[in-house]
Amino acid sequence: LLSCTGVRKTFGDHVVLDDLSLEVAEHEVVALIGASGSGKSTLLRCVNLLTGIEDGIIRLDGEEITNPKINPDLVRQRIGLVFQSYNLFPHMTVLDNITLAPTRVHKRAAAEAREQAMHWLERVGLADKARAFPDGLSGGQQQRVAIVRALVNNPRLLLLDEVTSALDPELVGEVLTMIRDLKGEGMTMVLATHEMGFAKQVADRVAFLDAGRVLEHGPPDQVLGDPTEARTRQFLSRII
Ligand code: ATP
Ligand code: MG
Repeated sequence: LLSCTGVRKTFGDHVVLDDLSLEVAEHEVVALIGASGSGKSTLLRCVNLLTGIEDGIIRLDGEEITNPKINPDLVRQRIGLVFQSYNLFPHMTVLDNITLAPTRVHKRAAAEAREQAMHWLERVGLADKARAFPDGLSGGQQQRVAIVRALVNNPRLLLLDEVTSALDPELVGEVLTMIRDLKGEGMTMVLATHEMGFAKQVADRVAFLDAGRVLEHGPPDQVLGDPTEARTRQFLSRII
């Protein structure tokens, strides 16, 4: 479903992604792990076309989305991205936060967008919060709303960047459950995380990023439990 081949991304003379390749199959959940600065967030931003790449090709459903002729807005409709900070607009209700992009950017009928939004809010148990403002919600609820906002376009792929790291430990569970439910429904996801427990619980595959490359990848038990590369072992020994 997603294929990154030979991706190179630099900021000035700093090479952040270096000949990086990664394949993600449909319905697969891949966790990106690696030290701070290894390029996890940058990779997600490149996939969502928030930033350009210097070399390489990114394909979504076989289509070369890094081709300059492609309209990035149309690609972003097919890829949801959620950040650590939920970035909800404080002066807008939950429902308005969710329907803002579909109605304004994608010019979808407002009624249809609201219907979709309510459908998702019901599924994640937040329908009663539709008219509430973000500051009336817990951090976990706000993050779930942010994920719903990324789902209203029915994306092919969901990218999650440290979606649990800003949350109090007791709120992490509800976001985890939502991600697991999405996985159960077959959503393809790529998530960057510092929490190995999270990676172990939801990921089909873990990819270890080191110096802008995927140094090794495989099932969570193998990469986290019995890594092949010395760099991976070193990284894991520092955090566990
Ligand atoms: P973390 O685990 O801390 O979130 P990360 O793996 O997500 O780290 P990135 O945020 O992708 O790492 O950053 C990779 C490198 O790219 C870092 O060295 C960072 O300083 C650099 N970088 C990221 N964005 C920019 C930018 N807009 N301008 C310049 N350098 C940047
Ligand atoms: Mg990051």
